[in-house]
Amino acid sequence: MRAQSRVILKNKSTGRGRRVENPVDREGNPITGCAVRGGRLNHGNRSGDPQSAPRCGARRRKGGLCRAPAMRGKRRCRLHGGLSTGPNTLAGVARLRAARTRHGRFSAEGLAVSRWQRRYVSNGYRSIRALVRELGEGRINGRDARHYLESMLATEERDGIAPALLEEQRREARTAVLAHDAERLRAKGFL
Ligand SMILES: [Zn+2]
Repeated sequence: MRAQSRVILKNKSTGRGRRVENPVDREGNPITGCAVRGGRLNHGNRSGDPQSAPRCGARRRKGGLCRAPAMRGKRRCRLHGGLSTGPNTLAGVARLRAARTRHGRFSAEGLAVSRWQRRYVSNGYRSIRALVRELGEGRINGRDARHYLESMLATEERDGIAPALLEEQRREARTAVLAHDAERLRAKGFL
């Protein structure tokens, strides 16, 4: 045990320090460790480095970032949204999304649909080839099957994908987004 000849004990109710020689508790045991102001942590625990804590990234009015320590497991301090639980109902998520959305091109739903759109024609040719392999060189409506399907696809490529088909993709993407929302709320203990 480290000798503590002179230490400052803090009065818990007033917070005022008091200089004491070799302090003891009520049972007469010497008081050491973190109970003594300025002392080390008890049981030889190393003190952490408060400077290495992740900082809050909120923008300040006077410019720059807040840089206060962020709340545990979060990226914001308690003054800048760290205390917020975020939305806790699906309706709340929907409200937030509506408020933040301008055109939705970059939303999860919009991106999923455009991904699908980009693959549409190449997937079409691939499935025609697969179908022709399956059928052999069959005929559809009296025409060579492969050419028939390919001309249909070419028309679609020229005129754009049918709105009903696009709408179906959009619905599918929306369903996936809602399922993801629900999963996230459940993970946070809501729902
Ligand atoms: Zn902050």
